[in-house]
Amino acid sequence: MPADRATSDAGPTEGADARRPGGGQGVTGSPAEWLEQAASAQPADFTTPGAPHACTQRTHSRLADGRLLCWRPSGSTGLHLAIDAEITGQPVPRALARRAATDDPLEFWPLWTRAEVRAKLHGIPIIHWLGLVDWSADGDLDAPLDIVTVVGASVVLSYGVREPRGAAIT
Ligand SMILES: [Zn+2]
Repeated sequence: MPADRATSDAGPTEGADARRPGGGQGVTGSPAEWLEQAASAQPADFTTPGAPHACTQRTHSRLADGRLLCWRPSGSTGLHLAIDAEITGQPVPRALARRAATDDPLEFWPLWTRAEVRAKLHGIPIIHWLGLVDWSADGDLDAPLDIVTVVGASVVLSYGVREPRGAAIT
């Protein structure tokens, strides 16, 4: 192999992801704006059923039927991310329906996934979170975080982003 370096090498950071909307190096605009873009342009993907999924870098959510969603948006360096997904229209467990004062799956699961994402972004177990805030009213602690919920035909998916403490996004 010749030692000369090819000057046309794009380098490892110029892959397809860097050209996607909302991608590229670093974050422009607010985390909320970035999240809106990332949730629509770079949605979470189902992993291959039955195949090992060894990715430890990104955020995941497992559905009740065992399928695993993986979210790997570009442009998220320095942001704390979380997702939570549930099957659209699946019955609401009775105990949870009582706590939420609704058993309508189309009302309940979006709220539930938002509560799960908030709990994950705060690092608080969901069982503690439910007693900490008015989660059925989308309650939260004071924190710089944003959530986008996408209700699809098969899956309800909430995406969340939290700025690290003291970090300035410019
Ligand atoms: Zn993954």
